[in-house]
Amino acid sequence: MTDFLNDHPPMGFATNGLVRHTSERGGDALARYRLDPQARIVLFAGDTPILSRKADGLSALHAAAMRGDLPVAEEVYLGTLDGTHVLALLTAADQLKAFEQRSDCFILDLRSVATQGLVPEREAGILAEAKSLLSWHARHRFCANCGAATRASASGFRRDCDACGTQHFPRTDPVAIMLITYGDKILLGRQSRFPAGNYSCLAGFVEPGETIEDAVRRETFEEAGVRVGEVSYMLSQPWPFPSSLMIGCHGIATDDSLDIDYEEMEDVRWFSRDDVTLMLEDRHPDNLRTPPPVAIAHHLVRRYLAG
Ligand SMILES: [Zn+2]
Repeated sequence: MTDFLNDHPPMGFATNGLVRHTSERGGDALARYRLDPQARIVLFAGDTPILSRKADGLSALHAAAMRGDLPVAEEVYLGTLDGTHVLALLTAADQLKAFEQRSDCFILDLRSVATQGLVPEREAGILAEAKSLLSWHARHRFCANCGAATRASASGFRRDCDACGTQHFPRTDPVAIMLITYGDKILLGRQSRFPAGNYSCLAGFVEPGETIEDAVRRETFEEAGVRVGEVSYMLSQPWPFPSSLMIGCHGIATDDSLDIDYEEMEDVRWFSRDDVTLMLEDRHPDNLRTPPPVAIAHHLVRRYLAG
């Protein structure tokens, strides 16, 4: 059991091998490298990633020639990977059909790509970064201040409004996700949309003007009626649907009474360590389980149990 808990399967989207462009700003890297024949391209058609099928497996990265005469809706300079420039391109969802015909491409929704671990671990984070940035461009074509059309700038890390001068930056939406404990007991819940038997950590968006710690306390009280005292940070995960940052915390409950919000939750329970260990290993007698390693909840539970 100890060996199992100390094994660390990769968490979805958490590893990104890029030297990010934002860490070495200066000049218009997109203009400079967009047609570099040595560059690599991360490609999305709408919300769907187009993977490259190679002799040694699937990859998020295509050769620069993939650009060809593709109609490009948005493009971003992401940074460098092993010294090679990497760009993200967005084309329309109706281009998917054409890629489906190609033997050098592989198409699957991004959640499944992560769940099944289809690309090298360090490329999963690149896919997340590209997806969030391209989705942001596609959904922010107009200025939130004055309504005029905006244009991409800063190599794709900003949109500028020429009418009123406002600069718009890509958004990241913080979500608090918490492993709540009381003594030896662990609080997990399920929503009706979860797969049968799945119990996970409670979670919710951090509200404006709220600390992460208070978001943990508020969400836990709203969903389970449980009061939380001390809160500490554990780990985080980008979740590009479209642009969340999951902030994983450990919260210590001040008592174990439950008052469940059944509008939001189908069930919330206190589980013993033994129960949760069986759930994590997927051998619980009642077929209860925790989320798979793609989800941060899996890692919060695993780390806590491993001590
Ligand atoms: Zn404007």
